[in-house]
Amino acid sequence: MIRIVSLGRTCKNYLRLHGKGQPNLYIHCPHCHRIMNKHGCYKRTVATKHQAIQVPIYRWYCTECRKTLTVLPDFLIPWARFATTVRESAIVRRLQGLSLSQIIQGVASFAVGISAATVKRWWKRHLCQVNRVSLYMAGKLVERGTTQDLFHLYPRGVNPALADTAHWLRSLVQVYASYFSHGMYPLRGYWCWLNTQLPHTDLL
Ligand SMILES: [Zn+2]
Repeated sequence: MIRIVSLGRTCKNYLRLHGKGQPNLYIHCPHCHRIMNKHGCYKRTVATKHQAIQVPIYRWYCTECRKTLTVLPDFLIPWARFATTVRESAIVRRLQGLSLSQIIQGVASFAVGISAATVKRWWKRHLCQVNRVSLYMAGKLVERGTTQDLFHLYPRGVNPALADTAHWLRSLVQVYASYFSHGMYPLRGYWCWLNTQLPHTDLL
């Protein structure tokens, strides 16, 4: 099991705050709702804009269900080597129509070594997600009672492609943040924050 939690403004801030010890979080077991116990950590490498950094990832354990829960800081998701902020800036640049080489130069330094194939993979994955994530967000906004015509934000009415939905998602995210973020974001982009709320199958 995983949970994504905001544990510092940036990767470096996370290291400073929690690099030497497990944060004191009251984590409730998702199954039995008892408070879980601290259960050690492992190291993971994360590639940020300028460097690859090793960070500790902490775990909690439920003695009743005998299940472990891993708490990822919000700049990480389970499968990605790159920080969420780096992946988001690549997708935003792709949406702005920048070329692959412009994207690569813009989102990470040469030392980090991001490849065109990686950016293409992110874009492909993003297009697979856009339908689910935008409907999830539109649903939450409607639940919240928005009066805005969300479909009006859709860039194209006829023969839409997934890339159009990706643009729609970007607009929805901004509306969603204006309702739910209480002004805390988007200093680091939106995805880190969104990932603390999205279903785990839909992490950005
Ligand atoms: Zn439990």
